[in-house]
Amino acid sequence: MSRPIFLIIAVLAVLGGVAWLAFELVDEAGETRGFSRVHGPVLTLDTHVDIPPTYTTLPEVDPGLETRLQVDLPKMERGGLDAAFFIVYVGQTARTEDNYAAAKEAALVKFNAIHAMTDALYPSRIGLASTPADVVDIHGSGRKVAMIGIENGYVIGKDLSLVEEYYDRGARYMTLAHVGHNDIADSSMPRIDLGDAPAEHGGLSDFGRDVVKEMNRLGMMVDISHISHDAMMQAVELSEAPAIASHSATTALADHPRNLTDDQMRALAAKGGIAQIVAFSTYVKADPGRTAAGMALRNRIAQEQGAPRFSYLAHGKLPEFREGMAEINRLYPRATLAQFVDHIDHAVKVMGIDYVGISSDFDGGGGVVGWDDASETGNVTAELLKRGYTYEEIEKLWSGNFLRVWAEVDAVAARLQGNAAN
Ligand SMILES: [Zn+2]
Repeated sequence: MSRPIFLIIAVLAVLGGVAWLAFELVDEAGETRGFSRVHGPVLTLDTHVDIPPTYTTLPEVDPGLETRLQVDLPKMERGGLDAAFFIVYVGQTARTEDNYAAAKEAALVKFNAIHAMTDALYPSRIGLASTPADVVDIHGSGRKVAMIGIENGYVIGKDLSLVEEYYDRGARYMTLAHVGHNDIADSSMPRIDLGDAPAEHGGLSDFGRDVVKEMNRLGMMVDISHISHDAMMQAVELSEAPAIASHSATTALADHPRNLTDDQMRALAAKGGIAQIVAFSTYVKADPGRTAAGMALRNRIAQEQGAPRFSYLAHGKLPEFREGMAEINRLYPRATLAQFVDHIDHAVKVMGIDYVGISSDFDGGGGVVGWDDASETGNVTAELLKRGYTYEEIEKLWSGNFLRVWAEVDAVAARLQGNAAN
């Protein structure tokens, strides 16, 4: 037995799965075969990437350069992340007329920032897609693909006409509520500090039902991540088009109010919808010690900063937060890529391979050990390959399923608009 072969066997014996993966996927050039053979050709699409309010404010946040963000163009290019929904997120505040106006203002800043990236700053590197066909065309042209999603229907306040205004600005999905109830739906996580009861509307409000119908008419995907169990079931039932969970994991593997129960996943799939499983450590791995320590740290930082509430976007880069998180990560290790893919496996088992997708929540608290920014996206594909998913299945998980759902949402809108015209 020659020495190199002996060495390989020894390493395999010692490191088990990790070494197997490295041996299987790394070729002589040092490039992973998983990356070149599967990850390269497959169109990878992440349905949830947050942006800071200062996005595309040069020189502070230039997405064309290497940044401290988990997603920027260099990281997408290095990691083979082809397409991402950039998120117009606005956090819940007290529902007053002034705050509705401020929420709209904050939303428009983010819409403008995303358009600045695709239209003014880097049109040769990334294009904005408004339809599933655009996604394929832009990807085919060798550019990255940006899409826009809204996180928190709070940005429409009580004004139904704003759904169309935001659609016209490029929004193709809207998460009905975030943390805290709004005028549309109950949240899975009420805000006691805002006076939230456990439930306010018993699911969707009457206004919320009108919002779902308007989204169906326009062709805006109804996103049920973040909303309460009852609101989710009602939205899926009411929506004429398939609904999406843009970034959620599974309750069966991690009991967290943000996750989906098997019943919820079956209801979603039964109407043709999709669960985009999220690589968010706290949703992937239930760890009460970590949750409590994280909450204590965030409360302390908010207090020190004189802010009413901790914000990842405003405070996530502070040294005291980073140091606090490093200590928490040492005491309570974060979820791993393998644990994240366990959730994908579970969702596939419950819903079927055609109803599951992938999301990160990068720059909004997302990331697991092994997929911690866009440059590490190839690791997800490698882990799926390791578990025996075929090329066709990996393609479905990365974008095929999602693009099919989006096309169905567009078809429903065309039908509803055609009916209205007749
Ligand atoms: Zn979220």
